[in-house]
Amino acid sequence: MTHYLNFINGQWCDSHTHISVINPATAQEYSTIASASVDDANNAMLAARQCISRGLLSDVRPAVRTTWMLDAAKAIKEIADEGALALCRENGKTLADAKDEFLEAARYFEYYGGMADKLEGTSIPLGKNYIDFTQYIPMGVSVQIVPWNFPVSICARSLAPALAAGNAVVIKSPEISPVGMVYLVRALESVGFPRGAINLLCGKGSVVGSHLVEHNDVNQIVFTGSVPTGQRILKGAAERATPSVMELGGKSAAIVLKDAATEKVISSVQTGIFFNAGQVCSAMSRLLIDKARYEEIKSAVVTMAENLVIGSGEEQADLTPVVSQAQQISVLAMIEQAKKEGATILCGGYAPDLAGYYVAPTVIEATPDMSISQQEVFGPVLVIMPFEDEQQAVKIANGTEFGLVAGVFGEALNQTLQVAQQLRGGQVFINEWFAGGIETPFGGVGLSGFGREKGQEAIYSYMQTRNIAIRL
Ligand code: NAD
Repeated sequence: MTHYLNFINGQWCDSHTHISVINPATAQEYSTIASASVDDANNAMLAARQCISRGLLSDVRPAVRTTWMLDAAKAIKEIADEGALALCRENGKTLADAKDEFLEAARYFEYYGGMADKLEGTSIPLGKNYIDFTQYIPMGVSVQIVPWNFPVSICARSLAPALAAGNAVVIKSPEISPVGMVYLVRALESVGFPRGAINLLCGKGSVVGSHLVEHNDVNQIVFTGSVPTGQRILKGAAERATPSVMELGGKSAAIVLKDAATEKVISSVQTGIFFNAGQVCSAMSRLLIDKARYEEIKSAVVTMAENLVIGSGEEQADLTPVVSQAQQISVLAMIEQAKKEGATILCGGYAPDLAGYYVAPTVIEATPDMSISQQEVFGPVLVIMPFEDEQQAVKIANGTEFGLVAGVFGEALNQTLQVAQQLRGGQVFINEWFAGGIETPFGGVGLSGFGREKGQEAIYSYMQTRNIAIRL
C-alpha cells in the first residue's frame, strides 16, 4: 500500500497524521496520505507569497509561461495511465473516465497555455494631452479548494488559468479521493514552474481548508464544492473582501418537448444522471416530459436504467459505486424521504448486495415541490414528472434555489431555442446533455454559485485590471 505526501515549496512532505483512502468498489483501504497541519498550510502560503513577491511567475515573459504550460500538458498525458488507475481505485469511477480526467487536465494546460501570452490590455483615448492604458495583473496567491467527484480535472480547471495568468496557487485536495491529484502535481513538478508556484495539501476541510481561506496572505479563493461549505467560506471571505469564485451544487432539469427524438433523450439521460454514479454537479437530476410523450419516455428511461450493468470502475461497468459509505447512506436516506412524501420509485431505490458502496440506478416519479425534486442528491437518482405546456415546464425547471445547467430536447429549432432562453442557469444544453467542452464558460446562478470557469472568459477571474492614466 502506497503512502502519499503533500507538496509544499517544491518538496514532498509527510505529516504527523495520515488520512486513510478507501476504495469504494471494495470498501477496503487503498492507500494513505499525509494529513496536512495548520503549520503545513502556513508553509505553503509562505512559499506561494514568496513566489509572487519575487516575481517568479509574473516577471518572466508570458511566452515562458506558455512553454511551461505546454510542457505540463505533455507531462500530464505521459502519466495519464498510471494516474488513472490510482484515481479509479480511490474514487470508484471507471478507468476510462479516470483517464479522461487526466486528458482533460492536459487540455486545460494547453488551452490556457495558449492564452498566457495573449492577455493584452486596451488603450483608452482621453484626448491629446493624455495616454491611458490597462494592464492585466495576477491576483497573487490563489487558494483553490477541490471536491472529490472530479478531483483531477476540477483541480486543473482552476490551476491552469491561475498559473497562465501568473498566480501562485495553494490547492486543498479533498479528504476523499486525493491521490489522483498527487499524480497531477508530480507531472507538473517535472516542468519549469518556479518553486512555490504550485502547492498541494490534503487535509481536513474544517481545519486546513478553513485556515487557508482565512489566511492573511490569500488574494483569491476558488471554491468548488457543496453549498453549505461555500456559504461558510463566503462569510470568512467577506471579512477580508477576498475575491471569490464559487462553483456549487445543482438540481438541473432537462425538458423533453413533444417532438423530441427518443434516442437523443435516452442516451443523454444515461450520461446525464448515471455517469460517475450521478456524482456530477451538472447532472441531469430532473427530467420533465411533455404529457403527450410521458408514458413512452418514462418506460424507455426505466428500461435503460434497469439494463445498466452495475460493477466496479476497473470492470468498466455502466454504473459504478458512489464514493463512500457516507455518500451511499445519504443517497439512500433521500430516497426513503421521497417515499415518505409520496413519490413513486419506478426502479432501483436500494443498495445492491455487493461489497462496495453501490446504489442501484434509481428513477423516481415525484411532484415539483417534494424534497427529492428540490435538493441535490449527488447519486444515481433521476426524478421524472410530466408537464402540461412549455410555460409550466419552464416554471418547474426554474423552480429550485439552484441554477447551474439545464437542457431542452426538441427538433423544432425555434421552439427549442425559445424554451432554452427562458431557463435559469449558466449553461443550457440542446439535444445532448454535457454538449459543452473546456472551451465553453461554465458556472451557476443562485445557490449554484457565481463566477465562470472554462472558456476564455474564466482567465479574467484570475487577474485584476490596472489602469495607467498619464498626463503628458
Ligand atoms: P464539500 O463542500 O463537502 O467539500 C469540498 C471541499 O471543501 C473539500 O476539499 C473539503 O475538504 C473542503 N472544505 C470543507 N469544509 C471546509 C471549510 N470550512 N473551509 C474550507 N474548505 C472546506 O463538497 P464535496 O462533498 O467534496 O463535493 C460535492 C459538492 O460539490 C456537490 O454539492 C457538488 O454539486 C459540488 N460540485 C460543484 C461543481 C461545480 O463546478 N459547480 C463541481 C463539482 C462538485
